[in-house]
Amino acid sequence: MKNRSFLFSVAFVMLSVFSGGKAFATARIILNFKDETATIRANFNFFGEIREDDLKKATDTAQKLWSGLPYLENDHEVIPLELIVRGYHLKVKAELQMNILPSVAAAKEHAMKNQSPMNNYIRVEQTNKEFASATGSLGANAIHILYQDDLAGSTTLAHEFGHSMQLDHIQQAFTGIPRIMIERSFPAVEQKYKYNPEDPNSTINPRLRRVTQADMYDLASVIKKWPIEKEGDVEYVDIGWNTATKDKFLFREKMKRSFAEKWFGND
Ligand SMILES: [Zn+2]
Repeated sequence: MKNRSFLFSVAFVMLSVFSGGKAFATARIILNFKDETATIRANFNFFGEIREDDLKKATDTAQKLWSGLPYLENDHEVIPLELIVRGYHLKVKAELQMNILPSVAAAKEHAMKNQSPMNNYIRVEQTNKEFASATGSLGANAIHILYQDDLAGSTTLAHEFGHSMQLDHIQQAFTGIPRIMIERSFPAVEQKYKYNPEDPNSTINPRLRRVTQADMYDLASVIKKWPIEKEGDVEYVDIGWNTATKDKFLFREKMKRSFAEKWFGND
């Protein structure tokens, strides 16, 4: 099931990339050059099958991971993360909020009126009906996620949020802590990070993924694509700002056509 889910996931992301998916705003990165901090802000609007405790845990985990903090009881390793912007080394933390939308109809209404660059719409279900855990396209603000992928106990939400911030999968083998954007069936990590450390064919244990400095280099590349805006003393980048249409924060037509029936179709 895991492998099948994974294939769906890849096909889904790839399809969206090749269909020329433009970006949606999905997160605001506050850049404070005085304090040398960068704060990743986003809202997760959950709808579908709601289990509040699980969703809270998943959100907390995503916030910890994107702040470089461990989330597993036996992992105490803090990974200092910095975003290098304009030559400044900004210390990174994430502030991720969760919001429960009571019905699919309410979620649809919220999305259609969305004016915030930080809103992501996350449909949650127990098992796979239409899609595996997936993000609409790189940079999309619509995510689909399954409890069967160990949502509460794992790094799935943090991974999908990475896609939402336009980060793609890591393809090359490497040593050290597995990066958050590694796919579930990826085999080329050190044995100790696999489901079965004794088996060379075993795949990565996704619970052991962490956001690392390498992911920050990738995120810094994403940030370069968008303008740094200023409001008073605050400077920020809205990831996914669409310069072509100026349609900053709406749940866009393309998304409505391509995915709404799947995301919002069945209550
Ligand atoms: Zn992925």
